[in-house]
Amino acid sequence: MPAELICFEERCRARFPITDAIYNCPHCGGLLEVWYPPPAATPAELKRIWRERRTSNAPLDQSGVWRYREMVPFLESYDRVVTLREGHTPLLPAPPAATYGGLDALTFKHQGFNPTGSFKDNGMTCGVAQALRLGMARVACVSTGNTSASMAAYASAAGLAGIVFIPHGNISYGKLAQALEYGAKTLQVEANFDQILALVRTLAERLGIYLLNSINPFRIEGQKTIIVEMLDQRDWNPPDWIVLPGGNLGNTAAFGKALRELHGLGFIARMPRLAVIQAEGAAPFYDLMLAPARGFHAVSHPETLATAIKIGDPVSWPKALREVACSGGVVEKVSEQEIADAKAVIGRCGIGCEPASAATLAGIRKLTASGTISASADVVAVLTGNLLKDPDYIYRYHTGKLEAPDGAAIHSRFANQPVVLPNDADRIAAFLQG
Ligand SMILES: *Cc1c(COP(=O)(O)O)cnc(C)c1O
Ligand SMILES: [Zn+2]
Repeated sequence: MPAELICFEERCRARFPITDAIYNCPHCGGLLEVWYPPPAATPAELKRIWRERRTSNAPLDQSGVWRYREMVPFLESYDRVVTLREGHTPLLPAPPAATYGGLDALTFKHQGFNPTGSFKDNGMTCGVAQALRLGMARVACVSTGNTSASMAAYASAAGLAGIVFIPHGNISYGKLAQALEYGAKTLQVEANFDQILALVRTLAERLGIYLLNSINPFRIEGQKTIIVEMLDQRDWNPPDWIVLPGGNLGNTAAFGKALRELHGLGFIARMPRLAVIQAEGAAPFYDLMLAPARGFHAVSHPETLATAIKIGDPVSWPKALREVACSGGVVEKVSEQEIADAKAVIGRCGIGCEPASAATLAGIRKLTASGTISASADVVAVLTGNLLKDPDYIYRYHTGKLEAPDGAAIHSRFANQPVVLPNDADRIAAFLQG
């Protein structure tokens, strides 16, 4: 029995061959999920096999995604898989961040250690593998951010043409620079994100381009391995909480699916709870959880300096809603000031991350203050992107020049100003001593 695509909507659940190049259910328009028959091996056997693969020099085994390929078995053959050795990111204890967050202990799972600097690589290796398997020559996404950086790298590594569509006047230079350097054809179109997405869907159909936006169900599969690897690193001891930032909510969908599958197969005896953190200016999922009866309402002008979570109409919200409910999870929102301060604290741990990632620690601080998370809880927070993604933000923060999107000043409580001194040993010595 091969893997299949299945419609996410309860009232539909239509099934489609795994080789259909579709992104939504052709019957009802619902989101698609990859469905698998149960694996042949037992959890104990797989845990042993996965641990052994860590000592292997085979490229597939060195990947923190494909090492766990029994959890993402949608391919018939692994011959053409392209890996940049994504995944195997560290679990880093961070005592100062724990104290700041109101916890006795806190561990970061740092996805910024990935080849292009974000967790998008975990998903992209799977999305590109599916593009190759379908015989596509071109792949595309609409993004100004980490998705375009990651897709550009994996497309080039796979010998595919990568096409990045950028909404007009909305450029993040660190990430755009990566897309250019990795060789993606980069098109700036005078339209907003949603308009361009509609355009690209039409073009994809017409020109045979494979879409690697966050709606792509194979990217979600790859992102599941973040959870598999984290549990493997913890000797299959589940934490009480897993905290992550929420933008398009693909990662929330992926983490929840991974936990459900691992729990269902008997890899773990209990489910950790998910805590999803959004930025105040882009918090439609938070609003939904607050008043579910009112239904989902997109935010038409999302605003936050944490550009990776500046999403007003997250495509994966129905999946995320189910996963948060299934895990007994919560959703919190945090201000620009709270994100900025939490980010500086993570930096002071010698760890660092991009602004969206720091929403995790800001959210933890609020959730411990409200008593939702207890101080003694076992918490893993996922840092989604690398510190160097957004150096401009950092420089402004530390020099006291960071402003929120509405123009409000952000107070640099943890500023670390560079100092200008004359070429004079006595003066410099005096400065350093006191
Ligand atoms: C994509 C991204 C997010 C948001 O993830 P979603 O799956 O869209 O919710 C958060 N942080 C970083 C660094 C990202 O690149
Ligand atoms: Zn359907």
